[in-house]
Amino acid sequence: MALGPLIFMAVLALVHHPLMVNDHTDVATLKRLQEQEEVLQKEMGHLQTELEQKGWNWDPGRSREDWVTPDLAPEDGTWDGWHYVALVILILFGCCRHTVEKEPTYDSSTDSSSTTSTEDYDDTDLESDHYEAQQNPLEVFYDKHIQTAAGDLGSMCDFVEAFVNDLLEACRNALPYQNTLPLLENCIGVGSAFEGWHVQKGPQAFSVLVPMVPPKGHSFDIETNDSEGAPSKHGHILVETECLCKRERLLGDVVCFLHHPQRELSEDMQGASLMPVLCTSSHLDVDKTIHWFQNLVDKAWKSIGPKFNLTLTPQASKTTCRLKLAFRSGRCIVIDIILGVQQGDSLVFLATHGTEIDHLTGTFWLKSFAVQELLFFKWVSQRTPEDSCHLKCLQLIVYFRESTSSSTHPTVLLNYHYKTCLMHLLLLQPLSDWGPENMAPRLQDILHFMHTALQEKYLEHFLIGNISLPIQIPMPKALRSAEPLNLFEHLAQDPKLYAEAKKEFVAVVEQARTLFAEPEE
Ligand SMILES: [Zn+2]
Repeated sequence: MALGPLIFMAVLALVHHPLMVNDHTDVATLKRLQEQEEVLQKEMGHLQTELEQKGWNWDPGRSREDWVTPDLAPEDGTWDGWHYVALVILILFGCCRHTVEKEPTYDSSTDSSSTTSTEDYDDTDLESDHYEAQQNPLEVFYDKHIQTAAGDLGSMCDFVEAFVNDLLEACRNALPYQNTLPLLENCIGVGSAFEGWHVQKGPQAFSVLVPMVPPKGHSFDIETNDSEGAPSKHGHILVETECLCKRERLLGDVVCFLHHPQRELSEDMQGASLMPVLCTSSHLDVDKTIHWFQNLVDKAWKSIGPKFNLTLTPQASKTTCRLKLAFRSGRCIVIDIILGVQQGDSLVFLATHGTEIDHLTGTFWLKSFAVQELLFFKWVSQRTPEDSCHLKCLQLIVYFRESTSSSTHPTVLLNYHYKTCLMHLLLLQPLSDWGPENMAPRLQDILHFMHTALQEKYLEHFLIGNISLPIQIPMPKALRSAEPLNLFEHLAQDPKLYAEAKKEFVAVVEQARTLFAEPEE
């Protein structure tokens, strides 16, 4: 590793100033950069050989072949910082490996293919006093910054679901007529908190999905293009009215909206009928639906609020009903209530809010696979080794990402993109490889997967068109066998966004690097 520190310093300098080679770069600079790159490529080869001799089994070429289709056309030469990012990832984990090697008794090799070292690993060491000192710097960092922040996440998740269900019950009672506006079913906790990789500075945020079903005399018809090859990420919800004249005549508990034109209804009834309140041209409107639900929650809270020892304040949001809960202890949490309509008997929803940044409004509803993703993480946790590192790796990356991004400016690379990389890797590698001792190489794998996806401007949606998705995860056949969807399509089309995404990724890698450069005492 004699060369290691020198190359490391050189590479850091380069990564701090990513090389932008454009038309304005003068010839001398270009030549110098080419020379530097040649030297670095050569050194990278040396370094790799050195690491391989030490049992470090990362082979970028092989991994890449495993994960994506064969080599692409050479880069167009507009940014040649990729080698440096790759090298930093390599060296970063080389350092980690080095740190672990210094501890002779803790032989939990990062080399997952080496059976001897994993067999030598003595589980009882975990409980000994000096285990803490031997821990991988990643674990020390995780315990200090993330574990404590997550705290009592499980019990908070239970509370959030129970609280929202109480609120929904009060909403049902606040509906003026039972057969006019959408019926609200009990909520489903979704997203990072419920999937177990929640990391957040500031108030903890929880998301729940509330399925809406049509009231009597109405039907919701979902309009998507799932059967036409490449599915889109959104759909429309057509509301149709059915004849209820017979029931109206016999029981008198409903009104037939189909055969009572609006003008014939009382003023009270008009304000409670679905079409004019929630629709734009016979389609459910996201903005109107959220607005209606927020008003309903305000009414409901007035009736049940006194039972709770907390203050509820609605927050501004166009795609969710966002509520801030302040407890007497001073603790605050935020709950995002997402409304959705189930697509047939599948667990795919058309929702007011999606996992990606493109918020649609009007009659466009976003296709949500939040329930499938939740089920996938449950499926994984039943099959991975005890105390598996997969969620911890994602939490570390999300922590690095959130430490480097501004809270006011939306980022291009989202937590969802890193989560997608992790979900793909969980299917591509044996789940037994995700044991707690393999945190460093698995974190490296996620960063490497993202690195490749960015380089190729291609990140496949995890659920749409994924034929290797476990059969236990319910997905409509048309979506399972659809053409894969590229989550980085917008990066391929917009060079500015692409440059921004690369910058954000380098910042995440740098954050991880800092962890090794300045190990925690
Ligand atoms: Zn009728």
